[in-house]
Amino acid sequence: MTDHSVDVLAIGPHPDDAELLCGGTLARCADQGYRTGILDLTRGETGTRGNPELRASEAAAAAEILGVSVRLNADLPDAGITNDRATREHIVGFLRALTPRVVILPFTRGRHPDHRLAAELCGDACFLSGLARFGSGSPHRPHKLLYAMAFREDPVKPTFVVDITEQFGRKMEAIQAFTSQFEGVQQAGEAFPTGQSLYDLIDVQSRHYGSLIRRGYGEPFYTDETVEIDDVAAMRVRSL
Ligand SMILES: [Zn+2]
Repeated sequence: MTDHSVDVLAIGPHPDDAELLCGGTLARCADQGYRTGILDLTRGETGTRGNPELRASEAAAAAEILGVSVRLNADLPDAGITNDRATREHIVGFLRALTPRVVILPFTRGRHPDHRLAAELCGDACFLSGLARFGSGSPHRPHKLLYAMAFREDPVKPTFVVDITEQFGRKMEAIQAFTSQFEGVQQAGEAFPTGQSLYDLIDVQSRHYGSLIRRGYGEPFYTDETVEIDDVAAMRVRSL
């Protein structure tokens, strides 16, 4: 692979997951001058709508809207992701080529087994990628793993929310690029139907996450580690 180095890499089980889970954050990172990437694990070939070729061209259009520098596909079987040694080695190859500092994964629980397994598989691969004697290529271990919590209802509070108020328009545009998947639908991934269009539903949910940090729109994330605060007097989200 040529030089595909990125600062922030989002890994999604299916094309369009990265947009739904963290499209605003990817756009914001690009705005901040970071190189961003998306690794789609499958081509979504078991999806009932569209087809893999169409989804690939939609994915390319969405990446451009979000200012994503690199978008690759790991070609794992849709609805058949497994966390075994061969698959971990395969993912390590992408991590060593992309050398991300931050990796965004789906949350560790999910309705679709591919989402849960993607979190486990890619979390393991991020560790193994740092082992000089695992697989081929130069070792690279990402510094930070973030789990995207959008649309999850687990009794776990996000560790933090990214303000995507300025990027929300581009997030929606990127999602709308997946015409074959979302046009006229009321549900996608973890977003359960409420009778509204999917686009309205994403708007409502993103406003809710934004409200958690007193902003217009937000995307929620979980980290295993505790977040450090430098200046308690400057903490922004008000209590009262
Ligand atoms: Zn998915």
